[in-house]
Amino acid sequence: MQHDFDRELESRLVRYAAIDTQSDEASPSAPSTEIQLDLLQLLEAELREIGAQDVRLTDYGVVMATIPGTAPGPSIGFLAHVDTAPQFNATGVKPRVIHGYNGGEITFPDDPELRLSPEVFPYLSEKQGHDIITASGTTLLGADDKAGVAIIMTAARHLLAHPEILHGPVRIAFTPDEEIGRGVSEALPAALGVDFAYTFDGGRVGEIEDETFSADAAEVTVTGVSIHPGFAKGKMVNATHLAAKIVQMLPQATMTPETTSGRDGFVHVTDMSGGSSEMKIRLILRDFERDGLAAKGALLRQVCEAVQATEPRASITCEIRAQYRNMRYWLEDDMTPVDLARNACRKLGIEPVSIPIRGGTDGSRLTELGVPTPNLFTGMQNIHGPLEWISVQDMTVATNLCLTLTGLAVEALPAKAQP
Ligand SMILES: [Zn+2]
Repeated sequence: MQHDFDRELESRLVRYAAIDTQSDEASPSAPSTEIQLDLLQLLEAELREIGAQDVRLTDYGVVMATIPGTAPGPSIGFLAHVDTAPQFNATGVKPRVIHGYNGGEITFPDDPELRLSPEVFPYLSEKQGHDIITASGTTLLGADDKAGVAIIMTAARHLLAHPEILHGPVRIAFTPDEEIGRGVSEALPAALGVDFAYTFDGGRVGEIEDETFSADAAEVTVTGVSIHPGFAKGKMVNATHLAAKIVQMLPQATMTPETTSGRDGFVHVTDMSGGSSEMKIRLILRDFERDGLAAKGALLRQVCEAVQATEPRASITCEIRAQYRNMRYWLEDDMTPVDLARNACRKLGIEPVSIPIRGGTDGSRLTELGVPTPNLFTGMQNIHGPLEWISVQDMTVATNLCLTLTGLAVEALPAKAQP
């Protein structure tokens, strides 16, 4: 049975989106910004209000809660992140609902030049008659991932109000700092205590994602020889020239974010800083496969060694650290959570699609830490910018997916039954 949650989802998303929760990579604290607590504390209170159990806000900034099972079955976690992307203005978000979208171009009250057009974004043309939520033109909306929060809260409220619905134990977690890659604390898997989990952090209806990039970050340090330029002849080694050489020798017409798509990975120089005595070059390396990622690291080291060989008086170091790994490596050993989501999707009359994510999710790290966590659609579109939008009706489909999935788990997975 499918329920209409349109009005509840609309009012939740509008309420949550108006609260500024932008994360900040430069901040060393956890959560990275105090303001995220505004929404985390609100959710903590709302979860208590709807009757969830074990509600708590952990010292690492995650709101957790339990919906006790009404039938034996696997315990399932549902996660969404409260923070919004640091890349675009997220202060003073004014969500706006267009009821019964007419299929035409959407304009914005706070930026008369801005246009959201179904010709440019064909998915929008499929949403005629839907209720569309956008921001006002000068900020992002933050449906990424407050749509996920609204979907999980709505499903939780429904399950708690209807104890006659059969489902196993459900655990909820709202996390901070996903956008800066710090959403999953080492303590989270044990605190969740579930058989498997899902993030509601995906895009168009039907998307069930079980593959992400594997990701490394690299930092190259070039140390030159510093000396007064007036007396530098034959002595100075300028780090900026060597850093420029390294960047110049890296692939540019291929293997960069702007020249790759689909299953191809890349080497991306994110920033350079420093001066003639020392330069730092920061890079991110991405690939869907371990071999491909290792090859990109090896290429970077080779380039550094080649430039080092041209100037023995300089010192060039290259440090590469792991960020996250393709969740497929773990999920392919046990496709239960992926198959369950796909079957629930089909039960709603939607054919599931799996497109590898050219990025990571909280689920990438969680899966690596032992909690298989594929990603499910919410409906969010054009994220991280002023043209972000979402259909309320898409969110209702996602909420029904959540409910169908918990019901199906009880029917389909008796093997995982617990007393
Ligand atoms: Zn997200």
